[in-house]
Amino acid sequence: MTRKTVTFTLATCLLAAAAVYAGQGLSMKCTAKPQKDPATGKAGKACNYEATVVFGGGMFSDQMTCYCRHCKKFVYLHWTRQGAPVPANMKVTPQPKPLGEVWDASTGKVMTVYACPHCKGPVLEIKKREDLTHCPVCNRPHFVVDKSKPEMAID
Ligand SMILES: [Zn+2]
Ligand SMILES: [Zn+2]
Repeated sequence: MTRKTVTFTLATCLLAAAAVYAGQGLSMKCTAKPQKDPATGKAGKACNYEATVVFGGGMFSDQMTCYCRHCKKFVYLHWTRQGAPVPANMKVTPQPKPLGEVWDASTGKVMTVYACPHCKGPVLEIKKREDLTHCPVCNRPHFVVDKSKPEMAID
């Protein structure tokens, strides 16, 4: 095998890995109907909150998607993917350690709390797009992917 062939094969492998690991950036929008004001009976303003939410990491890094109520935005915890072919000059970031666990008595679920990378306040992981059903601003359901906007591949 010539040197050229080796380089080509390596590049192909890296490209394939990138395709597998590329994150997904979704334009999401609150489509909850405006709520009626109980006092006046008049419809209030629609929330219409919009945000780009990224799920999944890149080739070398893994990430966790969270929403911080204090920072009022989606936040991301990044760390170096285990077993990734990290170049020697790249800084290796360990996987974040949780702040602790909380138990929800109404569902019996144990939730692992992490620290927001900006304010260090508590955040919960949103594991997948399907788990993000409620709008973080108005707390109502119908937080959906805005199909009129393109989906981005993040690496
Ligand atoms: Zn925060
Ligand atoms: Zn909303």
